[in-house]
Amino acid sequence: MSAKLIKGTEIREQILEEIIAEVAEIKEKHGVVPGLVTILVGESPASISYVTLKIKTAHRVGFNEIQESQPDDLSEEALLGLIDKYNKDDAINGILVQLPLPKHIDEKKVLNAIDPDKDVDGFHPVNVGRLMIGGDEVKFPPCTPAGIQEMIVRAGVETSGAEVVVVGRSNIVGKPIANMMFQKAAGANSTVTVVHTRTKDLAAHCLRADILIVAAGVPGLVKPEWIKPGACVIDVGVNRIGEKISEKTGKKIAILSGDVDFDAAKEIAGYITPVPGGVGPMTITMLMKNTLKSLKFKLGII
Ligand code: NAD
Repeated sequence: MSAKLIKGTEIREQILEEIIAEVAEIKEKHGVVPGLVTILVGESPASISYVTLKIKTAHRVGFNEIQESQPDDLSEEALLGLIDKYNKDDAINGILVQLPLPKHIDEKKVLNAIDPDKDVDGFHPVNVGRLMIGGDEVKFPPCTPAGIQEMIVRAGVETSGAEVVVVGRSNIVGKPIANMMFQKAAGANSTVTVVHTRTKDLAAHCLRADILIVAAGVPGLVKPEWIKPGACVIDVGVNRIGEKISEKTGKKIAILSGDVDFDAAKEIAGYITPVPGGVGPMTITMLMKNTLKSLKFKLGII
């Protein structure tokens, strides 16, 4: 293997330790800690497991954490009422609504009801606009793209002047990470190309990339011959390709694969993220970072 592995599991630990130290310092100086509310509607096992991990991480870094577990038949009005309550709650700095919501609830309406200054997921149109403007305007970069940028920077990969190719144009990964990488800012200043399902020659674009960020949701889409030797490859894809029995728990677990043919790609790339253990662990980590940031904005210390 020639590529250096960029492990999200290791970077997560570094960032969480930094957050723990900052929370302790703020508590001592200002007598407060960040407050995060997680709102879960229904009982989807996947959503429960995501929320549980968010709650566990919030506790670990010393946040005040409130859990709102609501039944599947909660009305849209009642959910909007909950959001209004936490918008007005001074002890809450971050509001997280676990997606997807049940079909009878308008997701867009709910996300738009969150106070943009507590929107730690960064999905509110105001925060999307702030991200586009860049610089001091940016409050809460969305968590997965923020995690991707953090991994590139902490791996020591040069971004200034680099050719970045983003595969995928979703609102939660492709569009925001593309926007972040071309900004006039540290960890950015790149020349960005976004490719998608209508792109004519995907391979030719990928082959130009110094930094290739793949978020398509198609297992093994990126072939080794599409990778420029020495490039930094960030594989965002998380695809369930089967099931196996966990050696640890004896329970059935999913076999996961990324969007890149990892085994072959690692012989060509300079840096590469594994799946699992790459970008995955960064999303919740950046949610914690955004929640801490929200309190710091409120205290006027950033
Ligand atoms: P999406 O389905 O919303 O968007 C996928 C994008 O990829 C689309 O814009 C589409 O145009 C493009 N695409 C799909 N097939 C393509 C092809 N054959 N050629 C070129 N472009 C193609 O997906 P998403 O929400 O952006 O997620 C993408 C992947 O990243 C999924 O596997 C998802 O599970 C994963 N993901 C991981 C994390 C994390 O690790 N924390 C977070 C979000 C998404």
